[in-house]
Amino acid sequence: MCYRELQCIEYSCGHKEPFTESKVDCNSSRCRYSAQHVRGCLACSSTCSQMSVGQCSIQFEELN
Ligand SMILES: [Zn+2]
Ligand SMILES: [Zn+2]
Repeated sequence: MCYRELQCIEYSCGHKEPFTESKVDCNSSRCRYSAQHVRGCLACSSTCSQMSVGQCSIQFEELN
């Protein structure tokens, strides 16, 4: 299933804030958001995976 990968900044106070995201493609024809998905797919919401939102998977620390 495709997902959105978030990159976050973690501040010294512990506060985290997403600053960019990118889509990761699973290359499955049974996934609605994949480039391999069939155009005009019928009953897509019941047969195909839908997008999931990722957690902050990559973190950067702000150094001041
Ligand atoms: Zn996918
Ligand atoms: Zn579909």
